[in-house]
Amino acid sequence: MKQDLFKKLQQIAEQNLLDIETHKKNGNHVIGFYCLYAPTEIAVAADAIPLPLCGTRQAPIEAAEEVLPRNLCPLIKSSYGFAATDTCPFFRFSDMIVADTTCDGKKKMFEIMADIKPVHVLQLPQNQDFSISLAPWKSEIEKLITILETFTDKKITREKISFAIALLNKERRAKKRLMDVTKAKPSPLTGMELVEILFKTGFFADKEKGIDLINEIADVCEQLIEKKESPYTLKTPRILLTGVPIGLGSDKVVKILEQSGANVVAFENCSGYKQTFQVDEIKDPVTALAEQYLSIPCSVMSPNQGRIDLLKEMIKEFSIDGVVDLTWQACHTYNIESHHIGKLVQDSYHLPFLHLETDYSESDTEQLRVRIEAFLEMM
Ligand code: SF4
Ligand code: SF4
Repeated sequence: MKQDLFKKLQQIAEQNLLDIETHKKNGNHVIGFYCLYAPTEIAVAADAIPLPLCGTRQAPIEAAEEVLPRNLCPLIKSSYGFAATDTCPFFRFSDMIVADTTCDGKKKMFEIMADIKPVHVLQLPQNQDFSISLAPWKSEIEKLITILETFTDKKITREKISFAIALLNKERRAKKRLMDVTKAKPSPLTGMELVEILFKTGFFADKEKGIDLINEIADVCEQLIEKKESPYTLKTPRILLTGVPIGLGSDKVVKILEQSGANVVAFENCSGYKQTFQVDEIKDPVTALAEQYLSIPCSVMSPNQGRIDLLKEMIKEFSIDGVVDLTWQACHTYNIESHHIGKLVQDSYHLPFLHLETDYSESDTEQLRVRIEAFLEMM
Protein backbone atom coordinates (compact mmCIF):
# COMPACT_ATOMS: atom_id res chain seq x y z
CA MET A 1 0.00 0.00 0.00
CA LYS A 2 2.84 2.36 0.95
CA GLN A 3 4.67 1.44 -2.26
CA ASP A 4 1.62 2.35 -4.37
CA LEU A 5 1.67 5.82 -2.84
CA PHE A 6 5.37 6.22 -3.66
CA LYS A 7 4.52 5.32 -7.27
CA LYS A 8 1.77 7.94 -7.20
CA LEU A 9 4.26 10.47 -5.77
CA GLN A 10 6.61 9.78 -8.69
CA GLN A 11 3.78 10.08 -11.23
CA ILE A 12 2.60 13.41 -9.83
CA ALA A 13 6.22 14.65 -9.72
CA GLU A 14 6.54 13.87 -13.45
CA GLN A 15 3.14 15.38 -14.28
CA ASN A 16 4.12 18.44 -12.24
CA LEU A 17 6.57 19.68 -14.89
CA LEU A 18 3.70 19.70 -17.41
CA ASP A 19 1.42 21.43 -14.88
CA ILE A 20 3.99 24.22 -14.46
CA GLU A 21 4.32 24.59 -18.22
CA THR A 22 0.54 24.87 -18.62
CA HIS A 23 0.38 27.44 -15.81
CA LYS A 24 2.97 29.56 -17.64
CA LYS A 25 1.26 29.17 -21.03
CA ASN A 26 -1.89 30.56 -19.38
CA GLY A 27 -0.01 33.78 -18.65
CA ASN A 28 0.82 33.11 -15.01
CA HIS A 29 4.21 33.34 -13.34
CA VAL A 30 6.63 31.14 -11.45
CA ILE A 31 8.71 32.62 -8.64
CA GLY A 32 11.80 30.78 -7.42
CA PHE A 33 12.57 31.10 -3.71
CA TYR A 34 15.85 30.64 -1.90
CA CYS A 35 15.28 29.85 1.64
CA LEU A 36 12.58 29.42 4.21
CA TYR A 37 12.54 33.07 5.33
CA ALA A 38 11.00 34.40 2.11
CA PRO A 39 7.17 34.34 2.48
CA THR A 40 5.93 32.30 -0.46
CA GLU A 41 2.37 33.40 0.37
CA ILE A 42 3.04 36.65 -1.51
CA ALA A 43 3.74 34.72 -4.74
CA VAL A 44 0.61 32.60 -4.26
CA ALA A 45 -1.38 35.81 -3.76
CA ALA A 46 -0.09 36.95 -7.18
CA ASP A 47 -1.41 33.69 -8.74
CA ALA A 48 2.20 32.56 -9.19
CA ILE A 49 3.70 29.16 -8.36
CA PRO A 50 6.41 29.41 -5.68
CA LEU A 51 9.27 26.92 -6.13
CA PRO A 52 11.95 26.16 -3.51
CA LEU A 53 15.33 26.31 -5.26
CA CYS A 54 18.12 25.56 -2.73
CA GLY A 55 20.51 23.17 -4.56
CA THR A 56 20.91 19.68 -3.08
CA ARG A 57 23.08 17.95 -5.68
CA GLN A 58 26.80 17.61 -6.30
CA ALA A 59 26.60 17.60 -10.13
CA PRO A 60 26.62 21.38 -10.81
CA ILE A 61 29.23 22.24 -8.15
CA GLU A 62 32.25 21.91 -10.45
CA ALA A 63 30.77 24.52 -12.82
CA ALA A 64 29.96 26.79 -9.86
CA GLU A 65 33.58 26.63 -8.70
CA GLU A 66 34.65 28.37 -11.91
CA VAL A 67 33.02 31.49 -10.47
CA LEU A 68 32.65 30.95 -6.73
CA PRO A 69 35.38 30.04 -4.23
CA ARG A 70 35.87 26.30 -3.70
CA ASN A 71 35.78 26.65 0.09
CA LEU A 72 32.13 27.70 0.14
CA CYS A 73 29.09 25.83 1.47
CA PRO A 74 27.98 23.14 -1.06
CA LEU A 75 24.37 24.32 -0.82
CA ILE A 76 25.38 27.74 -2.16
CA LYS A 77 27.64 26.27 -4.87
CA SER A 78 24.98 23.75 -5.93
CA SER A 79 22.30 26.48 -6.07
CA TYR A 80 24.48 28.74 -8.21
CA GLY A 81 25.77 25.82 -10.31
CA PHE A 82 22.24 24.79 -11.29
CA ALA A 83 21.52 28.36 -12.37
CA ALA A 84 24.79 28.78 -14.29
CA THR A 85 24.51 25.46 -16.14
CA ASP A 86 20.75 25.75 -16.71
CA THR A 87 20.29 22.16 -15.51
CA CYS A 88 17.46 22.64 -13.00
CA PRO A 89 14.02 22.72 -14.65
CA PHE A 90 12.62 24.60 -11.65
CA PHE A 91 15.22 27.38 -11.95
CA ARG A 92 14.53 27.50 -15.69
CA PHE A 93 10.78 27.84 -15.08
CA SER A 94 11.29 30.67 -12.59
CA ASP A 95 10.57 34.10 -14.04
CA MET A 96 12.06 35.84 -11.03
CA ILE A 97 14.04 34.87 -7.94
CA VAL A 98 13.21 35.99 -4.41
CA ALA A 99 16.05 35.49 -1.97
CA ASP A 100 17.10 36.86 1.40
CA THR A 101 20.21 37.99 3.23
CA THR A 102 20.76 34.96 5.44
CA CYS A 103 24.45 34.01 5.55
CA ASP A 104 27.30 35.93 3.93
CA GLY A 105 27.99 33.32 1.25
CA LYS A 106 24.42 33.18 0.07
CA LYS A 107 23.81 36.90 -0.08
CA LYS A 108 27.01 37.54 -2.05
CA MET A 109 26.20 34.65 -4.42
CA PHE A 110 22.83 36.26 -5.19
CA GLU A 111 24.65 39.35 -6.47
CA ILE A 112 26.31 37.13 -9.10
CA MET A 113 23.14 35.14 -9.81
CA ALA A 114 21.43 38.43 -10.71
CA ASP A 115 23.41 38.31 -13.99
CA ILE A 116 21.36 35.25 -14.97
CA LYS A 117 17.81 36.15 -13.84
CA PRO A 118 16.03 39.01 -12.05
CA VAL A 119 16.75 38.54 -8.33
CA HIS A 120 15.07 40.43 -5.51
CA VAL A 121 16.85 40.09 -2.17
CA LEU A 122 14.92 40.69 1.05
CA GLN A 123 17.00 42.35 3.76
CA LEU A 124 16.50 39.85 6.57
CA PRO A 125 17.31 41.13 10.08
CA GLN A 126 19.59 38.79 12.05
CA ASN A 127 17.91 39.26 15.37
CA GLN A 128 14.43 38.09 16.36
CA ASP A 129 13.69 40.77 18.96
CA PHE A 130 10.46 42.19 17.52
CA SER A 131 11.09 45.63 19.04
CA ILE A 132 14.22 45.93 16.86
CA SER A 133 13.53 43.80 13.81
CA LEU A 134 9.81 43.47 13.14
CA ALA A 135 9.19 46.89 11.58
CA PRO A 136 12.07 46.73 9.05
CA TRP A 137 11.20 43.12 8.17
CA LYS A 138 7.54 43.97 7.69
CA SER A 139 8.50 46.82 5.39
CA GLU A 140 10.64 44.36 3.38
CA ILE A 141 7.53 42.21 2.91
CA GLU A 142 5.47 45.26 1.89
CA LYS A 143 8.20 46.10 -0.64
CA LEU A 144 8.07 42.53 -1.98
CA ILE A 145 4.30 42.88 -2.47
CA THR A 146 4.84 45.98 -4.62
CA ILE A 147 7.64 44.34 -6.61
CA LEU A 148 5.63 41.19 -7.32
CA GLU A 149 2.53 43.23 -8.21
CA THR A 150 4.53 45.12 -10.82
CA PHE A 151 6.34 42.02 -12.07
CA THR A 152 3.25 39.82 -12.41
CA ASP A 153 0.80 42.62 -13.22
CA LYS A 154 -1.56 41.19 -10.58
CA LYS A 155 -3.11 43.08 -7.69
CA ILE A 156 -2.08 41.51 -4.36
CA THR A 157 -4.88 42.37 -1.97
CA ARG A 158 -4.97 41.66 1.79
CA GLU A 159 -7.76 39.13 1.03
CA LYS A 160 -5.57 37.26 -1.45
CA ILE A 161 -2.72 37.15 1.06
CA SER A 162 -5.10 35.79 3.72
CA PHE A 163 -6.27 33.12 1.31
CA ALA A 164 -2.64 32.17 0.55
CA ILE A 165 -1.84 32.00 4.28
CA ALA A 166 -4.78 29.62 4.85
CA LEU A 167 -3.68 27.42 1.94
CA LEU A 168 -0.03 27.23 3.01
CA ASN A 169 -1.04 26.71 6.65
CA LYS A 170 -3.02 23.71 5.43
CA GLU A 171 0.06 22.42 3.60
CA ARG A 172 2.24 22.96 6.70
CA ARG A 173 -0.31 21.11 8.87
CA ALA A 174 -0.27 18.17 6.44
CA LYS A 175 3.54 18.09 6.52
CA LYS A 176 3.54 18.18 10.31
CA ARG A 177 0.98 15.39 10.46
CA LEU A 178 3.21 13.29 8.20
CA MET A 179 6.40 14.10 10.12
CA ASP A 180 4.60 13.22 13.35
CA VAL A 181 3.82 9.63 12.30
CA THR A 182 7.43 8.80 13.13
CA LYS A 183 6.68 9.55 16.79
CA ALA A 184 5.29 5.99 16.85
CA LYS A 185 7.63 3.35 18.26
CA PRO A 186 8.69 1.77 15.95
CA SER A 187 8.12 4.22 13.14
CA PRO A 188 6.21 3.17 10.00
CA LEU A 189 8.46 5.30 7.77
CA THR A 190 12.17 5.36 7.13
CA GLY A 191 13.96 8.70 7.32
CA MET A 192 14.83 8.39 3.62
CA GLU A 193 11.15 7.89 2.74
CA LEU A 194 10.29 11.04 4.65
CA VAL A 195 13.05 12.99 2.87
CA GLU A 196 11.76 11.83 -0.52
CA ILE A 197 8.12 12.75 0.19
CA LEU A 198 8.95 16.21 1.58
CA PHE A 199 11.43 16.96 -1.19
CA LYS A 200 9.23 15.95 -4.12
CA THR A 201 5.97 17.46 -2.86
CA GLY A 202 7.81 20.76 -2.24
CA PHE A 203 7.85 21.38 -6.02
CA PHE A 204 4.19 20.63 -6.67
CA ALA A 205 2.50 23.41 -8.62
CA ASP A 206 -0.90 22.31 -7.42
CA LYS A 207 -0.76 22.78 -3.65
CA GLU A 208 -4.06 20.95 -3.04
CA LYS A 209 -2.75 17.91 -4.94
CA GLY A 210 0.34 17.85 -2.71
CA ILE A 211 -1.70 18.31 0.49
CA ASP A 212 -4.05 15.45 -0.47
CA LEU A 213 -1.14 13.13 -1.24
CA ILE A 214 0.69 13.95 2.00
CA ASN A 215 -2.51 13.30 3.97
CA GLU A 216 -3.08 10.05 2.06
CA ILE A 217 0.43 8.85 2.98
CA ALA A 218 -0.15 9.91 6.61
CA ASP A 219 -3.45 7.92 6.64
CA VAL A 220 -1.64 4.80 5.45
CA CYS A 221 1.13 5.32 8.02
CA GLU A 222 -1.46 5.62 10.79
CA GLN A 223 -3.00 2.32 9.67
CA LEU A 224 0.46 0.71 9.71
CA ILE A 225 1.00 2.00 13.25
CA GLU A 226 -2.29 0.40 14.33
CA LYS A 227 -1.28 -2.88 12.72
CA LYS A 228 2.20 -2.51 14.29
CA GLU A 229 3.85 -2.84 10.88
CA SER A 230 7.24 -1.21 10.63
CA PRO A 231 10.61 -1.80 8.96
CA TYR A 232 12.10 -1.38 12.47
CA THR A 233 11.93 -2.92 15.93
CA LEU A 234 11.61 -1.36 19.36
CA LYS A 235 15.38 -1.65 19.70
CA THR A 236 16.20 0.40 16.59
CA PRO A 237 18.07 3.58 17.63
CA ARG A 238 15.90 6.64 17.01
CA ILE A 239 17.94 9.57 15.68
CA LEU A 240 17.17 13.26 15.50
CA LEU A 241 19.01 15.05 12.70
CA THR A 242 19.56 18.76 13.28
CA GLY A 243 21.59 21.45 11.51
CA VAL A 244 21.70 22.29 7.82
CA PRO A 245 18.92 21.46 5.35
CA ILE A 246 19.08 18.29 3.25
CA GLY A 247 17.23 16.97 0.23
CA LEU A 248 17.51 14.25 -2.40
CA GLY A 249 21.17 14.29 -3.41
CA SER A 250 22.42 15.76 -0.13
CA ASP A 251 21.07 12.91 2.00
CA LYS A 252 24.18 10.78 2.46
CA VAL A 253 24.23 11.12 6.26
CA VAL A 254 20.61 9.90 6.52
CA LYS A 255 21.43 6.99 4.19
CA ILE A 256 24.51 5.96 6.18
CA LEU A 257 22.66 6.22 9.51
CA GLU A 258 19.86 3.99 8.22
CA GLN A 259 22.23 1.56 6.46
CA SER A 260 24.02 1.27 9.82
CA GLY A 261 20.84 0.16 11.61
CA ALA A 262 19.30 3.42 12.91
CA ASN A 263 16.06 5.19 11.99
CA VAL A 264 16.15 8.95 11.47
CA VAL A 265 12.76 9.79 12.95
CA ALA A 266 13.06 13.55 13.32
CA PHE A 267 14.50 16.31 11.15
CA GLU A 268 14.97 19.59 13.02
CA ASN A 269 16.13 21.57 10.01
CA CYS A 270 14.56 23.87 7.46
CA SER A 271 13.82 20.94 5.15
CA GLY A 272 11.96 19.30 8.05
CA TYR A 273 10.23 20.41 11.24
CA LYS A 274 11.18 24.09 10.90
CA GLN A 275 8.60 24.18 8.09
CA THR A 276 5.72 23.24 10.36
CA PHE A 277 4.83 26.66 11.78
CA GLN A 278 1.38 28.21 11.45
CA VAL A 279 0.83 31.82 10.44
CA ASP A 280 -1.86 33.62 12.45
CA GLU A 281 -5.04 33.80 10.34
CA ILE A 282 -6.78 36.42 12.50
CA LYS A 283 -4.24 39.29 12.49
CA ASP A 284 -3.44 41.65 9.64
CA PRO A 285 -1.91 39.18 7.14
CA VAL A 286 1.31 41.10 6.49
CA THR A 287 2.00 41.54 10.22
CA ALA A 288 1.26 37.85 10.76
CA LEU A 289 3.66 36.84 7.97
CA ALA A 290 6.38 39.17 9.24
CA GLU A 291 6.13 37.80 12.80
CA GLN A 292 6.06 34.15 11.85
CA TYR A 293 8.81 34.16 9.22
CA LEU A 294 11.09 36.28 11.39
CA SER A 295 10.70 33.66 14.13
CA ILE A 296 12.20 30.80 12.09
CA PRO A 297 15.04 29.45 14.25
CA CYS A 298 17.92 29.21 11.77
CA SER A 299 21.53 29.70 12.87
CA VAL A 300 21.80 32.94 10.87
CA MET A 301 19.86 34.51 13.76
CA SER A 302 21.77 35.71 16.79
CA PRO A 303 20.88 34.64 19.39
CA ASN A 304 18.94 31.60 18.20
CA GLN A 305 17.09 30.39 21.28
CA GLY A 306 14.21 29.10 19.12
CA ARG A 307 16.38 26.21 17.88
CA ILE A 308 17.16 25.15 21.45
CA ASP A 309 13.45 25.29 22.36
CA LEU A 310 12.46 23.30 19.28
CA LEU A 311 15.13 20.68 19.97
CA LYS A 312 13.97 20.27 23.57
CA GLU A 313 10.42 19.66 22.38
CA MET A 314 11.46 17.25 19.63
CA ILE A 315 13.88 15.18 21.73
CA LYS A 316 11.01 14.44 24.09
CA GLU A 317 8.18 14.00 21.63
CA PHE A 318 10.07 11.74 19.22
CA SER A 319 11.63 9.59 22.02
CA ILE A 320 15.12 10.31 20.70
CA ASP A 321 18.11 8.04 21.49
CA GLY A 322 20.81 10.18 19.87
CA VAL A 323 21.30 13.50 18.06
CA VAL A 324 23.35 14.10 14.91
CA ASP A 325 24.19 17.72 14.10
CA LEU A 326 25.04 18.16 10.43
CA THR A 327 27.07 21.11 9.15
CA TRP A 328 27.90 21.75 5.51
CA GLN A 329 31.55 22.58 5.02
CA ALA A 330 32.23 26.32 5.37
CA CYS A 331 28.91 27.01 7.09
CA HIS A 332 30.18 29.08 10.02
CA THR A 333 26.84 29.73 11.68
CA TYR A 334 25.82 26.07 12.08
CA ASN A 335 29.40 25.03 12.81
CA ILE A 336 29.76 27.44 15.71
CA GLU A 337 26.23 26.91 17.01
CA SER A 338 27.00 23.21 17.33
CA HIS A 339 28.80 24.01 20.60
CA HIS A 340 25.52 24.98 22.28
CA ILE A 341 23.59 22.12 20.68
CA GLY A 342 26.13 19.55 21.88
CA LYS A 343 26.03 20.96 25.42
CA LEU A 344 22.22 20.83 25.46
CA VAL A 345 22.06 17.24 24.21
CA GLN A 346 24.84 15.88 26.41
CA ASP A 347 24.43 17.91 29.61
CA SER A 348 20.64 18.22 29.80
CA TYR A 349 19.54 14.96 28.15
CA HIS A 350 22.63 12.74 28.60
CA LEU A 351 22.21 11.51 25.04
CA PRO A 352 24.93 10.59 22.54
CA PHE A 353 25.74 13.53 20.24
CA LEU A 354 27.65 13.53 16.97
CA HIS A 355 28.67 16.65 15.05
CA LEU A 356 29.49 15.96 11.40
CA GLU A 357 30.94 18.42 8.92
CA THR A 358 30.83 17.33 5.30
CA ASP A 359 29.88 18.33 1.77
CA TYR A 360 27.78 16.82 -1.04
CA SER A 361 30.56 14.60 -2.46
CA GLU A 362 30.97 10.90 -1.71
CA SER A 363 34.70 11.26 -0.93
CA ASP A 364 34.30 10.89 2.85
CA THR A 365 31.51 8.29 2.86
CA GLU A 366 33.58 5.52 4.45
CA GLN A 367 35.05 7.88 7.04
CA LEU A 368 31.52 9.02 7.96
CA ARG A 369 30.34 5.41 8.14
CA VAL A 370 33.06 4.54 10.69
CA ARG A 371 32.13 7.53 12.88
CA ILE A 372 28.40 6.83 12.60
CA GLU A 373 28.80 3.14 13.44
CA ALA A 374 30.86 4.03 16.53
CA PHE A 375 28.20 6.59 17.53
CA LEU A 376 25.38 4.06 17.18
CA GLU A 377 27.27 1.58 19.35
CA MET A 378 26.87 4.05 22.22
CA MET A 379 23.08 3.44 22.22
S1 SF4 B 1 19.61 26.76 6.98
FE1 SF4 B 1 18.83 28.86 7.31
S2 SF4 B 1 19.83 30.05 5.71
FE2 SF4 B 1 20.10 27.91 5.14
S3 SF4 B 1 18.37 27.49 3.77
FE3 SF4 B 1 17.68 26.96 5.84
S4 SF4 B 1 16.67 28.76 6.70
FE4 SF4 B 1 17.86 29.39 4.89
S1 SF4 C 1 24.03 25.80 5.18
FE1 SF4 C 1 25.01 27.56 6.19
S2 SF4 C 1 26.47 28.42 4.70
FE2 SF4 C 1 25.05 27.04 3.60
S3 SF4 C 1 23.43 28.38 2.87
FE3 SF4 C 1 22.70 27.58 4.84
S4 SF4 C 1 23.41 29.07 6.40
FE4 SF4 C 1 24.52 29.49 4.47
